[in-house]
Amino acid sequence: MQFIYQAKWPDGFSCPRCGHRQAYVIRSRRLPLYECRSCRHQTSLIAGTVMEGSRTSLCKWFLAFHLVANTERGTNAVQLSSFLQVTYKTAWAILHKIRQALSQADNANPLTGVVKGGTAFHRPFRSAASVLGLYPEQRPVFVVASLDKGAVPQQVKIKTVRPEDMEDGRIYRSAGEHFIKEHVSPDALDVDIETRRYHYQRVPSLRNYLRKARAWTNRVFNGIGPKYLQHYLDEFCFRLNLQLQNVPIFDRLARACIKILQIS
Ligand SMILES: [Zn+2]
Repeated sequence: MQFIYQAKWPDGFSCPRCGHRQAYVIRSRRLPLYECRSCRHQTSLIAGTVMEGSRTSLCKWFLAFHLVANTERGTNAVQLSSFLQVTYKTAWAILHKIRQALSQADNANPLTGVVKGGTAFHRPFRSAASVLGLYPEQRPVFVVASLDKGAVPQQVKIKTVRPEDMEDGRIYRSAGEHFIKEHVSPDALDVDIETRRYHYQRVPSLRNYLRKARAWTNRVFNGIGPKYLQHYLDEFCFRLNLQLQNVPIFDRLARACIKILQIS
Protein backbone atom coordinates (compact mmCIF):
# COMPACT_ATOMS: atom_id res chain seq x y z
CA MET A 1 0.00 0.00 0.00
CA GLN A 2 2.90 2.30 0.81
CA PHE A 3 4.50 1.60 -2.57
CA ILE A 4 1.25 2.42 -4.39
CA TYR A 5 0.70 5.58 -2.34
CA GLN A 6 4.18 6.86 -3.14
CA ALA A 7 3.98 5.99 -6.84
CA LYS A 8 0.59 7.65 -7.12
CA TRP A 9 1.20 10.70 -4.95
CA PRO A 10 4.99 11.23 -4.67
CA ASP A 11 4.41 14.70 -3.17
CA GLY A 12 1.56 13.60 -0.93
CA PHE A 13 -2.18 13.29 -1.57
CA SER A 14 -3.66 15.31 -4.40
CA CYS A 15 -7.40 15.18 -5.12
CA PRO A 16 -7.96 13.80 -8.65
CA ARG A 17 -10.97 16.11 -9.03
CA CYS A 18 -9.93 19.47 -7.54
CA GLY A 19 -6.22 19.10 -6.74
CA HIS A 20 -6.68 19.84 -3.02
CA ARG A 21 -3.82 18.44 -0.94
CA GLN A 22 -5.62 17.22 2.18
CA ALA A 23 -7.85 14.22 2.72
CA TYR A 24 -9.65 12.26 5.41
CA VAL A 25 -8.60 8.62 5.41
CA ILE A 26 -11.43 6.12 5.78
CA ARG A 27 -10.06 2.80 6.96
CA SER A 28 -13.19 0.70 7.30
CA ARG A 29 -12.62 -1.07 3.99
CA ARG A 30 -10.11 -3.62 2.68
CA LEU A 31 -8.10 -0.73 1.23
CA PRO A 32 -8.12 2.82 2.64
CA LEU A 33 -10.38 5.38 0.99
CA TYR A 34 -9.32 9.02 0.70
CA GLU A 35 -11.96 11.73 0.95
CA CYS A 36 -10.92 15.18 -0.25
CA ARG A 37 -11.32 17.76 2.53
CA SER A 38 -12.34 20.40 0.03
CA CYS A 39 -14.72 18.79 -2.49
CA ARG A 40 -15.52 15.53 -0.63
CA HIS A 41 -14.59 13.43 -3.65
CA GLN A 42 -13.65 9.92 -2.57
CA THR A 43 -10.85 8.03 -4.24
CA SER A 44 -9.23 4.69 -3.48
CA LEU A 45 -5.59 3.78 -3.60
CA ILE A 46 -6.13 1.62 -6.69
CA ALA A 47 -8.44 3.96 -8.64
CA GLY A 48 -6.89 4.62 -12.05
CA THR A 49 -4.39 1.75 -11.75
CA VAL A 50 -4.39 -1.70 -13.36
CA MET A 51 -5.81 -3.01 -10.06
CA GLU A 52 -8.96 -0.88 -10.17
CA GLY A 53 -12.10 -3.00 -9.86
CA SER A 54 -10.12 -6.17 -9.17
CA ARG A 55 -10.87 -8.46 -6.24
CA THR A 56 -7.42 -10.04 -6.45
CA SER A 57 -5.22 -9.08 -3.48
CA LEU A 58 -2.42 -6.54 -3.81
CA CYS A 59 0.07 -9.27 -2.86
CA LYS A 60 -0.99 -11.34 -5.84
CA TRP A 61 -0.84 -8.33 -8.14
CA PHE A 62 2.68 -7.52 -6.98
CA LEU A 63 3.73 -11.14 -7.43
CA ALA A 64 2.38 -10.85 -10.99
CA PHE A 65 4.47 -7.67 -11.52
CA HIS A 66 7.50 -9.55 -10.25
CA LEU A 67 6.93 -12.50 -12.59
CA VAL A 68 6.36 -10.28 -15.63
CA ALA A 69 9.51 -8.30 -14.72
CA ASN A 70 11.56 -11.50 -14.84
CA THR A 71 13.93 -10.89 -17.73
CA GLU A 72 14.62 -14.41 -18.79
CA ARG A 73 11.15 -15.82 -18.93
CA GLY A 74 8.26 -13.45 -18.45
CA THR A 75 5.11 -15.40 -17.70
CA ASN A 76 1.97 -16.68 -19.38
CA ALA A 77 -1.56 -17.06 -18.03
CA VAL A 78 -1.24 -20.81 -17.35
CA GLN A 79 1.87 -20.32 -15.20
CA LEU A 80 0.46 -17.25 -13.50
CA SER A 81 -2.82 -18.94 -12.57
CA SER A 82 -0.91 -21.72 -10.85
CA PHE A 83 1.51 -19.34 -9.07
CA LEU A 84 -1.27 -17.06 -7.82
CA GLN A 85 -3.90 -19.74 -7.25
CA VAL A 86 -6.42 -17.84 -9.35
CA THR A 87 -8.47 -18.99 -12.34
CA TYR A 88 -6.98 -18.92 -15.84
CA LYS A 89 -9.47 -16.17 -16.72
CA THR A 90 -8.29 -13.98 -13.83
CA ALA A 91 -4.61 -14.62 -14.65
CA TRP A 92 -5.23 -13.73 -18.30
CA ALA A 93 -7.03 -10.51 -17.30
CA ILE A 94 -4.16 -9.54 -14.96
CA LEU A 95 -1.56 -10.03 -17.71
CA HIS A 96 -3.73 -8.19 -20.22
CA LYS A 97 -4.04 -5.18 -17.89
CA ILE A 98 -0.29 -5.16 -17.22
CA ARG A 99 0.49 -5.28 -20.95
CA GLN A 100 -1.94 -2.45 -21.66
CA ALA A 101 -0.15 -0.35 -19.04
CA LEU A 102 3.26 -1.20 -20.54
CA SER A 103 1.98 -0.29 -24.04
CA GLN A 104 0.81 3.05 -22.68
CA ALA A 105 4.16 3.64 -20.99
CA ASP A 106 5.93 2.78 -24.24
CA ASN A 107 3.73 5.04 -26.35
CA ALA A 108 4.32 7.92 -23.93
CA ASN A 109 8.07 7.57 -24.39
CA PRO A 110 8.99 8.44 -28.01
CA LEU A 111 12.37 7.79 -29.61
CA THR A 112 14.81 10.70 -29.48
CA GLY A 113 18.26 11.71 -30.76
CA VAL A 114 19.58 9.62 -33.64
CA VAL A 115 16.75 7.29 -34.72
CA LYS A 116 17.42 4.46 -37.17
CA GLY A 117 15.63 1.32 -38.25
CA GLY A 118 13.29 -0.18 -40.78
CA THR A 119 10.72 -2.84 -41.44
CA ALA A 120 11.00 -6.58 -41.06
CA PHE A 121 8.74 -9.58 -40.65
CA HIS A 122 7.72 -11.06 -37.36
CA ARG A 123 7.19 -14.73 -38.10
CA PRO A 124 5.03 -16.57 -35.63
CA PHE A 125 5.58 -20.15 -34.60
CA ARG A 126 3.95 -22.57 -37.05
CA SER A 127 0.97 -23.48 -34.90
CA ALA A 128 -2.14 -25.34 -35.95
CA ALA A 129 -3.90 -22.00 -36.33
CA SER A 130 -1.32 -20.69 -38.80
CA VAL A 131 -1.28 -23.93 -40.79
CA LEU A 132 -5.06 -23.67 -41.10
CA GLY A 133 -4.64 -20.09 -42.26
CA LEU A 134 -6.37 -18.58 -39.23
CA TYR A 135 -3.72 -15.91 -39.09
CA PRO A 136 -1.06 -14.94 -41.57
CA GLU A 137 2.38 -16.52 -41.35
CA GLN A 138 4.25 -13.29 -41.15
CA ARG A 139 3.41 -9.83 -39.97
CA PRO A 140 5.39 -6.74 -40.95
CA VAL A 141 6.76 -4.71 -38.08
CA PHE A 142 8.91 -1.63 -37.62
CA VAL A 143 12.11 -2.27 -35.69
CA VAL A 144 13.51 1.14 -34.80
CA ALA A 145 15.93 2.40 -32.15
CA SER A 146 17.45 5.51 -30.61
CA LEU A 147 21.21 5.10 -30.96
CA ASP A 148 24.00 6.46 -28.80
CA LYS A 149 27.23 7.96 -30.19
CA GLY A 150 28.67 4.50 -30.80
CA ALA A 151 25.51 3.54 -32.80
CA VAL A 152 24.42 1.22 -29.98
CA PRO A 153 20.64 1.03 -29.40
CA GLN A 154 19.48 2.68 -26.17
CA GLN A 155 15.75 2.40 -26.75
CA VAL A 156 14.03 -0.01 -29.14
CA LYS A 157 10.49 -0.08 -30.46
CA ILE A 158 8.90 -2.94 -32.37
CA LYS A 159 5.55 -1.84 -33.79
CA THR A 160 3.25 -3.68 -36.17
CA VAL A 161 2.55 -1.92 -39.47
CA ARG A 162 -1.05 -0.74 -39.57
CA PRO A 163 -3.23 -2.70 -42.06
CA GLU A 164 -4.21 0.52 -43.85
CA ASP A 165 -0.52 1.22 -44.53
CA MET A 166 -0.01 -1.87 -46.67
CA GLU A 167 -1.51 -3.96 -49.41
CA ASP A 168 -0.60 -7.50 -50.54
CA GLY A 169 2.48 -7.45 -48.31
CA ARG A 170 3.73 -4.17 -49.80
CA ILE A 171 4.33 -1.43 -47.28
CA TYR A 172 3.40 2.10 -48.33
CA ARG A 173 5.76 4.99 -47.76
CA SER A 174 3.02 6.54 -45.57
CA ALA A 175 3.67 3.77 -43.02
CA GLY A 176 7.00 5.36 -42.15
CA GLU A 177 5.38 8.77 -41.79
CA HIS A 178 2.76 7.34 -39.45
CA PHE A 179 5.41 5.59 -37.37
CA ILE A 180 7.42 8.80 -37.02
CA LYS A 181 4.34 10.80 -36.07
CA GLU A 182 3.38 8.33 -33.35
CA HIS A 183 6.69 7.10 -31.99
CA VAL A 184 9.46 9.60 -32.73
CA SER A 185 9.93 12.80 -30.75
CA PRO A 186 9.57 15.99 -32.88
CA ASP A 187 13.01 17.14 -31.66
CA ALA A 188 14.85 13.96 -32.76
CA LEU A 189 18.12 14.94 -34.47
CA ASP A 190 18.40 12.47 -37.30
CA VAL A 191 15.64 10.11 -38.39
CA ASP A 192 16.31 7.35 -40.90
CA ILE A 193 13.61 4.70 -41.24
CA GLU A 194 13.58 2.50 -44.31
CA THR A 195 10.22 1.03 -45.28
CA ARG A 196 11.42 -1.34 -47.98
CA ARG A 197 11.76 -4.93 -46.82
CA TYR A 198 14.72 -6.03 -44.75
CA HIS A 199 16.50 -2.73 -44.78
CA TYR A 200 17.19 -2.55 -41.08
CA GLN A 201 20.52 -4.37 -41.36
CA ARG A 202 22.45 -1.14 -41.01
CA VAL A 203 21.82 -1.59 -37.31
CA PRO A 204 22.64 -5.30 -37.00
CA SER A 205 21.63 -5.61 -33.34
CA LEU A 206 18.04 -4.76 -34.28
CA ARG A 207 17.86 -8.04 -36.13
CA ASN A 208 18.92 -9.86 -32.96
CA TYR A 209 16.29 -8.12 -30.88
CA LEU A 210 13.57 -9.05 -33.33
CA ARG A 211 14.81 -12.64 -33.29
CA LYS A 212 14.71 -12.65 -29.48
CA ALA A 213 11.20 -11.18 -29.47
CA ARG A 214 10.07 -13.92 -31.81
CA ALA A 215 11.73 -16.68 -29.78
CA TRP A 216 10.17 -15.33 -26.59
CA THR A 217 6.62 -15.02 -27.98
CA ASN A 218 6.84 -18.49 -29.44
CA ARG A 219 8.37 -20.14 -26.38
CA VAL A 220 6.27 -18.53 -23.68
CA PHE A 221 2.99 -18.14 -25.55
CA ASN A 222 3.12 -20.72 -28.31
CA GLY A 223 2.55 -18.03 -30.91
CA ILE A 224 0.20 -15.06 -30.69
CA GLY A 225 -2.71 -13.97 -32.87
CA PRO A 226 -2.62 -10.58 -34.55
CA LYS A 227 -5.11 -8.98 -32.16
CA TYR A 228 -2.76 -8.82 -29.17
CA LEU A 229 0.64 -9.06 -30.83
CA GLN A 230 1.42 -5.36 -30.28
CA HIS A 231 0.90 -5.60 -26.51
CA TYR A 232 3.32 -8.56 -26.32
CA LEU A 233 5.92 -6.73 -28.40
CA ASP A 234 5.56 -3.71 -26.11
CA GLU A 235 6.06 -5.93 -23.05
CA PHE A 236 9.20 -7.36 -24.66
CA CYS A 237 10.59 -3.90 -25.49
CA PHE A 238 9.73 -2.52 -22.04
CA ARG A 239 12.05 -5.09 -20.43
CA LEU A 240 14.66 -4.84 -23.19
CA ASN A 241 14.93 -1.05 -22.93
CA LEU A 242 15.39 -1.06 -19.15
CA GLN A 243 18.08 -3.72 -19.56
CA LEU A 244 19.85 -1.59 -22.20
CA GLN A 245 19.74 1.35 -19.78
CA ASN A 246 20.72 -0.73 -16.73
CA VAL A 247 17.56 0.20 -14.85
CA PRO A 248 15.91 -2.32 -12.47
CA ILE A 249 12.75 -3.64 -14.14
CA PHE A 250 10.39 -4.47 -11.26
CA ASP A 251 10.21 -0.96 -9.85
CA ARG A 252 9.53 0.69 -13.24
CA LEU A 253 7.03 -1.96 -14.22
CA ALA A 254 5.06 -1.64 -10.99
CA ARG A 255 5.05 2.16 -11.33
CA ALA A 256 3.85 1.93 -14.95
CA CYS A 257 0.96 -0.25 -13.72
CA ILE A 258 0.03 2.25 -11.01
CA LYS A 259 0.42 5.46 -13.00
CA ILE A 260 -1.71 4.75 -15.99
CA LEU A 261 -3.78 7.18 -17.98
CA GLN A 262 -6.75 5.07 -18.95
CA ILE A 263 -7.76 1.43 -19.09
CA SER A 264 -9.93 0.09 -21.87
ZN1 LIG B 1 -11.21 17.53 -4.17
